[in-house]
Amino acid sequence: MVRPEGWFSGTGWRAVGMTMNGSYGIIGWPLGHTMSPTLHSWGFEQFGMDARYTAWPVAPDELAPFMERVRTQPVAGLSVTIPHKQTVMPFLDRISDRAARIGAVNTVYWDGDVLCGENTDITGFVAPLHALSFVPASALVLGAGGAARAALAGLKELGVTRLAVTNRTLAKAEALAAAFAVDCVAWESRMDSGWQLVCNTTPLGMSGAEEARSPWDAQVFSSDMLAYDIVYNPLETRFLREAREAGCRTVSGLDMFVQQGLAQFALWTGQSMDAAGAKGHLLGALKG
Ligand code: NAP
Repeated sequence: MVRPEGWFSGTGWRAVGMTMNGSYGIIGWPLGHTMSPTLHSWGFEQFGMDARYTAWPVAPDELAPFMERVRTQPVAGLSVTIPHKQTVMPFLDRISDRAARIGAVNTVYWDGDVLCGENTDITGFVAPLHALSFVPASALVLGAGGAARAALAGLKELGVTRLAVTNRTLAKAEALAAAFAVDCVAWESRMDSGWQLVCNTTPLGMSGAEEARSPWDAQVFSSDMLAYDIVYNPLETRFLREAREAGCRTVSGLDMFVQQGLAQFALWTGQSMDAAGAKGHLLGALKG
């Protein structure tokens, strides 16, 4: 397949004289602050690759023409975020079993001339738990969006036997609970019973308007719990700080972010980025 040289800048296609291996990026809308360019640009630098990773804001009504250009222009790989994780699927030739199972793609890559979709959020989510050799007997997922799907899929893969989801909008939690065959807990009752792992996938605690908030009351943590927050900016959310102060083990969203990114990088390049080096680089960037 011959692909002309160029890349999508968000405002149009630019000729840059790169090889087809050189152009990667993230699509989303609105594409707020993302650390993906920081991570992948560092990776390309580490391996001396002539590649560029760009943040491409793509509005929902631009997705179809954008995906057409992915095939005709030199786009070697994509990270996919809200709101395209599901809507990108019909534009791909092959979807992995994992991505199909959770109904969301966060990575697009080429296998020869076949445009493929994978979900590395699950890999990213379970990696920190594997590192701790921790399989909780029970887990509650807070939130019912795309990240909650990855968390539920990951926890199921780990073999967690008592698993539930709760969400501000009950109907969404019910739908997700049905899709994953797990329990549904009303948002108002989420702290009524004990859980070995509680995972926040809502934006509560994220830098900005929600930073001072937590989805969990400080006095309800018990020291045998593990608190997992997939928010990574700030590094320690109020949820994680209060859990740590209560003696709980904590996992930051940065670990998940690094691992989902490493899995993307490996699919695109066949190379394994150094996890500790990548995390250190992101920590430096976050502390800015
Ligand atoms: P999403 O699909 O928009 O879902 C957001 C969820 O949070 C929904 O269930 C929503 O509830 C809930 N929510 C929003 N505001 C809330 C509030 N004020 N109080 C209670 N619940 C609230 O988003 P997503 O894709 O799941 O992403 C969620 C977060 O995860 C984002 O901050 C994203 O950056 C982060 N993330 C991190 C990683 C990582 O690698 N660390 C990977 C993926 C995502 P309703 O249904 O009621 O609206």
